Amino acid sequence: MPSLPAPLARMIEVRGMPCTVTGTEDLSPSFRRVHLACERLKGREWAPCQVTTFLVSPTAFRRYTPDAVDTVTGRMSILFHRHSTLVPGPTSPGDAWLDSLTAGAPVSAMGLEATRSFRARAEPGTTLVCGDATTVGLWYSMIHWLGDRARVCGVVEVPAQDVPVVRGLLPGVQVVAQSAQPGEAVLSWLGDAPPREVTQAYLAGHGQTVQRARNVVRTRYDLHRSVIHTQPYWATGKAGL
Ligand SMILES: Cc1cc2nc3c(=O)[nH]c(=O)nc-3n(C[C@H](O)[C@H](O)[C@H](O)COP(=O)(O)OP(=O)(O)OC[C@H]3O[C@@H](n4cnc5c(N)ncnc54)[C@H](O)[C@@H]3O)c2cc1C
Repeated sequence: MPSLPAPLARMIEVRGMPCTVTGTEDLSPSFRRVHLACERLKGREWAPCQVTTFLVSPTAFRRYTPDAVDTVTGRMSILFHRHSTLVPGPTSPGDAWLDSLTAGAPVSAMGLEATRSFRARAEPGTTLVCGDATTVGLWYSMIHWLGDRARVCGVVEVPAQDVPVVRGLLPGVQVVAQSAQPGEAVLSWLGDAPPREVTQAYLAGHGQTVQRARNVVRTRYDLHRSVIHTQPYWATGKAGL
């Protein structure tokens, strides 16, 4: 549901969880973390892979993944990749909305759910993750949530300027500089990856890359389809997903 007529969009928005922005942090040139307080988070069940939706203009919805949720204090944060900073031209609706968020701003978070096929599972062994800049918050939450229960390895491509910061956020994961072609760096890394035993794999981010990475991961790590979990986050030339 990337867009709806404004009156309908507003009707849906008012039914979301009322949140207040408590702060924003620019971690690097294109990564911004937004902190939110939300009474209705208290007592909820939360695990990584749950996503929420915001109305970012009168008619456009966009989906994002909290990188941390505290269901006791009613707080969460979201790590945004500001992709518009990298390309000339007008700022996208999602990035323009993000720029409007300052401490004290009210926002409505619609839903906080994971799909049945893409939800966090604490399988012992090694979890492989693979994605791009939009998935850094997702893997950050996964690493913290799994803790000592499983190892996390894999690869994430981000703009070269953001590599040092993302390396600090994702211990165990290879962070490589993206090229002009989405997915090229990740697919090249996977093609040359050393053999290792992997229990399950999570692939997210650029839709076309996720599809190709799925095949590479399946043969490279000899994984059954049922333990490869995929979720497209954006697609070339498409507004929202
Ligand atoms: C389930 C789910 C969870 C998500 N979680 C997060 C999250 O936690 N953090 C996060 O940053 N993003 C996340 N995303 C991705 C984000 O919703 C998309 O990138 C979205 O398209 C951004 O909206 P926009 O208005 O900025 O750009 P749009 O208006 O949707 O797109 C404008 C143009 O930019 C291109 N584009 C969109 N995203 C990117 C990108 N990342 N890099 C390069 N080009 C792009 C599109 O192909 C299009 O041509 C998630 C998406 C989904 C589906």
